[in-house]
Amino acid sequence: MSKRFIVIGNPISHSKSPEIHQAFAKQADIKVHYHRQYCPNDTDSFHAVVEAFFHGGGDGANVTVPFKQAAHDWCREVGGLTPYARVAGAVNTLFRQADILFGGNTDGPGLIAHLQQLGWSLSGSNVAIIGAGGAARGIILPLLEAGVSNITLANRTVSKAEQLISDCYSEGQLLGGDIGELFATSRTQACAIESLTGHYDIIINATSIGLSDERLPLSDQLSCTAAYDMMYGRPLPFLEHFAAQGAQTSDGYGMLLAQAALSFERWTGHSVDMHTLDL
Ligand code: NDP
Repeated sequence: MSKRFIVIGNPISHSKSPEIHQAFAKQADIKVHYHRQYCPNDTDSFHAVVEAFFHGGGDGANVTVPFKQAAHDWCREVGGLTPYARVAGAVNTLFRQADILFGGNTDGPGLIAHLQQLGWSLSGSNVAIIGAGGAARGIILPLLEAGVSNITLANRTVSKAEQLISDCYSEGQLLGGDIGELFATSRTQACAIESLTGHYDIIINATSIGLSDERLPLSDQLSCTAAYDMMYGRPLPFLEHFAAQGAQTSDGYGMLLAQAALSFERWTGHSVDMHTLDL
């Protein structure tokens, strides 16, 4: 019997998820129906779409802009959250276990999986993240788990970076156990983008500036061994800037594939082999 999945968003017509999941299904030799689900931009409509989908026998849903936080808040109220979703404050993957709705977040683990595929070493590394939106928040816990020794979070609005760190760390410590210990023993500091200076092993652009013609105000005193832009599918001045300094670079397409693979694995139990993917 085939499995049924959707991706819910607004707008949604641009989403590449159906093609990506069909490639995973082909590799796993299973039948999957995965479609784009438009949803009006309000919380009640989002709840109605999710309920109708799962009551109708749906197996799993991806959630994208602008519903990731609404999905988190709803799962927190009526169901459960994975630790990644709790610390991220956002959900990109919905699934049911024993009739309970659960929210997970595979964006951050997807980034780590892609960095590992690229061979970029994380253990003991000094990492800077530029941006303090949902994408930045989702990668803090996976980076700490991967053993980075220091994270600096730079943002145009510094108060948002400070708030993000405070929210992440309080949520992480509430989780207790190994994750609580990670947050209790690590430090992440905030600064303005133009004040980010020195050398980093990896600098990650988690802003949405790539959607505009603007440039990040990067200091001349800033350098890195490797630069990663979560954006993909267009020329990225952030990567060009660091490539000109001799740094390794990557856009975020591999992250998109890896986060999708982790959702697919959660729903179907099939692991995806990225090396033999037909995409
Ligand atoms: P948000 O809207 O939550 O956050 C946007 C961030 O970008 C904020 O920190 C904002 O700063 C900053 N920003 C926006 N415009 C500018 C500018 N002109 N100059 C400086 N900073 C700016 O977005 P998300 O966190 O959800 O997403 C960020 C990016 O990550 C997007 O491009 C998205 O496509 C990408 N992404 C990629 C994924 C993948 O799989 N590859 C997965 C998830 C996200 P301020 O706080 O000051 O407003």
